Amino acid sequence: MSTHSEQYHRTLAELARRRATDAPTHGGRVLSYVYDSGLAELDDLAGAAAKLVQPVNGLDPTVFGSVATMERDLIAFARTAFHGPDAVGSVTSGGTESCVLAVKAARDHAGPTPGTGSIVLPATAHAAFDKAARLLGVRAVRVPVDPATTRVRPADLAAAIDDDTFLLIASAPNYPTGALDPIAEIADLARARDLPLHVDACLGGFALAWWPEPLPAWDFRVPGVTSISADFHKYGYAPKGASVILHTDRDRHRAGFFATTEWPGYPIVNPTLLGSRSAAGLASAWAITDYLGPDGFAALVAPIARATASLRAAVDAIDGLAVVGAPDGPVFAVVADPTSAAPIDPHRWSAAVADHGFTLQEQPSYTQNDGTVLPASTHLTVTPVTAAVLDDLIAALTDGAAQARGQDRAAAPEALAGLAQAFDAGALTVDDALALDSASTEAALVAAGIDPHTDPAVAGDALDLPAIIAAIELLPRPVTAKMLTEFLASYANP
Ligand SMILES: *Cc1c(COP(=O)(O)O)cnc(C)c1O
Repeated sequence: MSTHSEQYHRTLAELARRRATDAPTHGGRVLSYVYDSGLAELDDLAGAAAKLVQPVNGLDPTVFGSVATMERDLIAFARTAFHGPDAVGSVTSGGTESCVLAVKAARDHAGPTPGTGSIVLPATAHAAFDKAARLLGVRAVRVPVDPATTRVRPADLAAAIDDDTFLLIASAPNYPTGALDPIAEIADLARARDLPLHVDACLGGFALAWWPEPLPAWDFRVPGVTSISADFHKYGYAPKGASVILHTDRDRHRAGFFATTEWPGYPIVNPTLLGSRSAAGLASAWAITDYLGPDGFAALVAPIARATASLRAAVDAIDGLAVVGAPDGPVFAVVADPTSAAPIDPHRWSAAVADHGFTLQEQPSYTQNDGTVLPASTHLTVTPVTAAVLDDLIAALTDGAAQARGQDRAAAPEALAGLAQAFDAGALTVDDALALDSASTEAALVAAGIDPHTDPAVAGDALDLPAIIAAIELLPRPVTAKMLTEFLASYANP
């Protein structure tokens, strides 16, 4: 007999109704955002773990000792996985927080004078480092990657280093194309210049650690790698809210902290950006690593590797599409094959694949600062559950290609094309656009068919993604950033 009131049940029923309008988080239908182990038991375990720590405040592990012991275990798990027997670190709320802390720790350890200091990173490194640079008041120097391999060339990184540089960054693997940067060569460079090297393994670290095929060295076994970030809420299969940052150097780790007693309240010691913090992410990730152990992780990675190979072979067999470069892990991107007589637009393709029930992630083209272009692509993140739907997915990729073959790039909405012309003709400058207030920006969005007032609870009614991609490709990037800010702010405040 339930002791809960009727309102309790109505409230939960309402949430369930809203959840039913979300993209499917299970079943392998969405190849980004979600990392489904395919094991229902893991979801139950993570949920039960989160519930057990629900009232806990992770702010003070001396009061809530369970937080301290779970953090010790997770750091030890990551230290072993990434072969850094002496590494130390902190559990964070996610990849962005780990990346920001990597930059903060390096900045405060190196101590550049305020307003100076730069990080040097490949163009393909995650945008979280741009966020870190802006928050911390340092410069982010992005170095073009080789468009064929999408790996950064160490000599190009070397050329971007100057007296201000206090940190090098590389990815294992990067998000846009799944390539591993040449970590060993970059680490040699870092050592020669006496700079720390952060390896961002947020995306695939916990998959690469058990990858069944040989990989180029990328973790703490490479001398010169001084920190690694890796997300439990990606290939650690935990619900969102758990990542880790590890350092080889104790002092550099400590430089990431914030501590003060210079206020009248309780003494503050924060290893991460948050103050009061949920222990739910920590407990869920702890429960999953404790339950699976390294062998469980290896068992989940094997089908990912097999499914990735099958999917890449399926794309290779499609005339008109090509996998970008030679990605090593569980993620890859697909572009129009430049060597084909009949290249297929990758976004027409993803739209057609969506008709067959699978959601792939569209990425706009990107002009690097040396003028070379990384073309528009479609991204696939392969997870254990992908193996269970492999035949259907391969059929969707192949049938989608047949459907998209011969279709031109989708035309941009007219209002956007008009806006782009105004920029090209000089009738509108970036400064003009950035000076627009929120109401005018919103009006421009609505005119472009990107209407933030659509009802999120009506499935499929949300947003016109091709229009957003077109806006990103057509308009100056700072303008699209402003428009996207307006979109999301209005979406939450319709
Ligand atoms: C996801 C990701 C991040 C950022 O992580 P969040 O958990 O989304 O904040 C950083 N780097 C890479 C390579 C990623 O894939």
